Amino acid sequence: MEKNRKRIALLGSTGSIGTQAIEVIEQFPELLQIEVLTAFSNADLLIKQAKKCKPNIVVIGKEDLYKYVKEALWDDDVKVFAGMQAINEVVQMECVDMVLSAIVGVAGLAPIFKAIEADKQIALANKETLVVAGELMTRTAYEHGVNIYPVDSEHSAIFQSLAGEFHNPISRLIITASGGPFLHKNRGFLQTVTKEQALKHPNWKMGNKITIDSSTLMNKGLEVIEAKWLFAVPLEKIEVLVHPQSIVHSLVEFADGSIKAQLGLPDMKLPIQYALTYPQRMTSDLPRLNFAEHPTLTFEAPDLETFPCLALAYEASRKGGCLPCVMNAANEAAVSLFLQDRIGFNDIPKIIEDALSQADFCIPSTIEEYLQIDKETKIKTLEKNSK
Ligand code: NAD
Ligand code: MG
Repeated sequence: MEKNRKRIALLGSTGSIGTQAIEVIEQFPELLQIEVLTAFSNADLLIKQAKKCKPNIVVIGKEDLYKYVKEALWDDDVKVFAGMQAINEVVQMECVDMVLSAIVGVAGLAPIFKAIEADKQIALANKETLVVAGELMTRTAYEHGVNIYPVDSEHSAIFQSLAGEFHNPISRLIITASGGPFLHKNRGFLQTVTKEQALKHPNWKMGNKITIDSSTLMNKGLEVIEAKWLFAVPLEKIEVLVHPQSIVHSLVEFADGSIKAQLGLPDMKLPIQYALTYPQRMTSDLPRLNFAEHPTLTFEAPDLETFPCLALAYEASRKGGCLPCVMNAANEAAVSLFLQDRIGFNDIPKIIEDALSQADFCIPSTIEEYLQIDKETKIKTLEKNSK
């Protein structure tokens, strides 16, 4: 029985998706097994997870924490490595069947490529990788016969709605958005909002970066681009619809006008589980949706003037080449500045727009080129906006 278990390398195990993924995997010991855990700097949680989950290998990204982790796991039967290069190497190991990437930001790009090149199946939460290098990543996955299973709830909903429809053309993808904590606010109000206000998401508890992205609607922009690559659907056929209750997780319209959707309470464990156990639906004890308790499901168009990030993402993706990478890098830099109280909320889209207008258009053909553009954009953005 053990031989048939899917052996998983969980990248970013200490984050919001990472910790929930461990809970999911623990539910199905007959099917899933944690082979590798990696984290960047939360050594204490990584050590705790290693003692509990008993993986074969752990990697701590920050190299100066190696000794600390190694000593703490001295008595445990687990190999300890450190550094980003080690993450790139462990994903290629024979003992790994599937890589679940729950790293945040472009930092996950190199490991994902290494995993695809070693023919590992991918469960992807780390949407920024598809935003930055979607064309190269999906082409490489195709060449290696690698499937990329979405973990993002909207994309999982689309994937689930597409079951049995693979040969039927899609006429429209409708990605739902909660609208975030500042739904129905105007730009004047947003002028003075603090990071504490932006970090209070109404429906989801997530890592800081994606929570800020949700409040600016950049998260939806990233998701539109993610959907374009995952499902090979052109941008013109991808719409965003604000749905504050986060019950309908996204919808697909087919040629005959029929629309399919996936519904459920907002809980990332369900899309994580589906990505890991696909094509099986395993019995879970997740809370069930009771329609009588949610009698009102509402839908409205997004406010692109108050939240320019969504339109910027469409524009960057339409122009293509290096621009989605520039946009993502400027966004990562702007979000980190906002989280350090060094810029205001409305500066985030301004910084991204500025970076896009200053960018020299090019079409990168390797991961290294994308990473170089990411690095240069971040340096420029941080220099320009450091008061
Ligand atoms: P998080 O900040 O809670 O966790 C990030 C994880 O990545 C941590 O384990 C951290 O150690 C690791 N990490 C950070 N920087 C790293 C680096 N430079 N090198 C290696 N590892 C690094 O983030 P999260 O909310 O779990 O989000 C992870 C990804 O999943 C993001 O791309 C996000 O957009 C996506 N996602 C998250 C949710 C959610 O509910 N949290 C939902 C959908 C998609
Ligand atoms: Mg999402």
